[in-house]
Amino acid sequence: MSQTDLIYQHYLSYPTISTDTRNIAPGCLFFALKGENFDANVFARNALNLGAAYVIIDNPAFQLDDRCILVDDVLTTLQELAKYHRSQLRIPVIGLTGSNGKTTTKELINAVLAEKYRSFATKGNLNNHIGVPLSILAIKPDTEIAVIEMGANHQKEIEFLCTIAQPTHGLITNIGRAHLDGFGGFEGVKKGKGELFTYLKKDKGTAFINQDNPLLTEMGRTAELDHFVYYGTEGENFITGQLVKSDPLIALNWKGRDEYFSVHTNLTGAYNFENILAAICIGAFFNLTVEQINKGLSGYMPNNNRSQLTKTESNTLICDFYNANPSSMTAALQNISSLTAANKVAIIGDMFELGPEAPEQHEEIARLALESGLNTVIFIGKNFNAVKDQHTGEFFNTPAAALEWLEANPIKDSLVLLKGSRGMALEQLLPVL
Ligand code: ATP
Ligand code: MG
Repeated sequence: MSQTDLIYQHYLSYPTISTDTRNIAPGCLFFALKGENFDANVFARNALNLGAAYVIIDNPAFQLDDRCILVDDVLTTLQELAKYHRSQLRIPVIGLTGSNGKTTTKELINAVLAEKYRSFATKGNLNNHIGVPLSILAIKPDTEIAVIEMGANHQKEIEFLCTIAQPTHGLITNIGRAHLDGFGGFEGVKKGKGELFTYLKKDKGTAFINQDNPLLTEMGRTAELDHFVYYGTEGENFITGQLVKSDPLIALNWKGRDEYFSVHTNLTGAYNFENILAAICIGAFFNLTVEQINKGLSGYMPNNNRSQLTKTESNTLICDFYNANPSSMTAALQNISSLTAANKVAIIGDMFELGPEAPEQHEEIARLALESGLNTVIFIGKNFNAVKDQHTGEFFNTPAAALEWLEANPIKDSLVLLKGSRGMALEQLLPVL
């Protein structure tokens, strides 16, 4: 029996995986992964004491008893195990990638599919070389359909994640200016995300394509896909829909073959319209009724600081500070610009991972923000500060400095957009808003 087979036998009896001793489930398999600043081999004993059934380690120095399974490389073992588990599941898996909107779209698709199936979706944002295997290994045997988010910041990453998730269906939300550094510019992003279509072509899978997005339709053609399903705002699509309202929450009309139906959602941001349409397309493709699709959509409440509308005593906030890059920042600014409110404020933080393009991109966003018809724009972070001289607006190096200013100059009765990269931690400002 190979090492993977042996661990898979254990996994069948103990189907919970843990990689962190701070949340060990009793009877789990503990995988001792290495990070930049840690080597979890040292936690093997601790994991067993906390109730792990077995620990998978790759350093013999930490082998205690036969509950320790020594492998060449823990990460590779985790990935191999996930591949094997996936191959045992005879279910459709929808692989999802793109520059922006993956998590939101994944949540929406899952909310829709759950109206008919025992569906599974990636928890949170577990979308990388560790998150995807963990997601696959969290799929229970009775699951009927799964949605797996795949993130990437360099070439060949999606190709690799596809070998684990083995998607039968796929969706690229969009191609934007995210992770330009790792991908080597915009063309690199296109190529990297396109690896999903290449995989689908090879495996005779089906792609869901936004007909309104010329980049995606071109990529679909280039990949010479055998099976694809279009959605969009006009023309001959499997699903066609139009945005009716996005001020502040989105309502839309959509149809399959003939009759139009309308649905109200709890999402803000016109950019979410295409995410919603993708979820409708996938729901309809997997034979959900109109009622099931609309129920799934209207029941979905964002609660993850992505396009989340929150009312405080003083203001209405658009909390969108989970992350930011130039494309999502542009979408968020265009959105607040289009909304009706007497007072509009944008508090925007630095965008990370832009490499040499950082100064130019921050410059462009600063200009856009100041041209968006807002009453106040507050910029936070070193990158924005570097372009300060050319612009009006309030500039601060850190959220703490901005907080102090906001305490002295409180914002009231306004619609406030909060958006920046995760590392900017803009949630620190919430107490004064
Ligand atoms: P990550 O790379 O962190 O996994 P993601 O692709 O999963 O991000 P989400 O977390 O769903 O994306 O959304 C992040 C932000 O991207 C949203 O809050 C919103 O500002 C923006 N966004 C969402 N959908 C779109 C879209 N279709 N087009 C442009 N921007 C979008
Ligand atoms: Mg995500």
